[in-house]
Amino acid sequence: MRGKFVAGNWKMNTDHASGLALAKSLVDGIRADAAISAGLASGKLRTAVCPPFPYLAAVAGAIQGSKVELGAQNCYMEKPGAFTGEVAASMLKDIGCGLVVLGHSERRHKMGETDAQIKAKLVAAQAAGLEVILCLGETLAERQAEKTFSVLAEQIAGALGGLPVETLAKLVIAYEPVWAIGTGVNASPAQAQEAHAFIRKDLAKHFGQAAADKMIIQYGGSLTADNAREILSQPDVDGGLVGGASLDAKKFLPILQAAVA
Ligand code: PEP
Repeated sequence: MRGKFVAGNWKMNTDHASGLALAKSLVDGIRADAAISAGLASGKLRTAVCPPFPYLAAVAGAIQGSKVELGAQNCYMEKPGAFTGEVAASMLKDIGCGLVVLGHSERRHKMGETDAQIKAKLVAAQAAGLEVILCLGETLAERQAEKTFSVLAEQIAGALGGLPVETLAKLVIAYEPVWAIGTGVNASPAQAQEAHAFIRKDLAKHFGQAAADKMIIQYGGSLTADNAREILSQPDVDGGLVGGASLDAKKFLPILQAAVA
């Protein structure tokens, strides 16, 4: 039985003080909520925050002793060396990250990241001991052209093709339709379920059904307290990757509540 995993992607937001305050209010809110605490204690629920690089170490301190996990939003594919401005996966591990988000649509579409680069980063991150949240998703134009499934299959093949089945043990997939990210327009529960079921089927083609059945597939794209319950109750939706609503504990905690409802 797959549990639920809800992670907050803070993107390029907060400053040192507000990031620490956000982490603290999340930890306090979780402590005060019996259902979320029980979910986390039993392993039926996981949660994580992914702050910007400069605040990772401080947030690591703020969540210490809680069940909140720490993730980064990107890493580089090379080992430490002459790569000015980049951050190695081993550095993230060193300061307390267990996770890294890779292939976010903002990196694919605003920074021009390719599937080949995402694959190299994924391999490097896992070699450094990090679990990867791999983001996939189609643009509005691709959906309108009925290319959603072919885009998802291409992104899966591009990032994971040829890798051993063990790769899935330290991997979470986030289905994030680009048209739903930060727009206030979420995928309908049926659209999310359809895409998640396709992703699972495609993973089974590469890695076998048993491995695919174990995979956590998060939904991301304008997930809020209002729509979380219905979306997260879809059979192939195993949690969420949350942007905007992760910046306020009062908005993030109800999503965790929906995940354990
Ligand atoms: C995201 O950044 O991964 C995301 C899903 O953002 P939002 O929840 O704001 O749509």
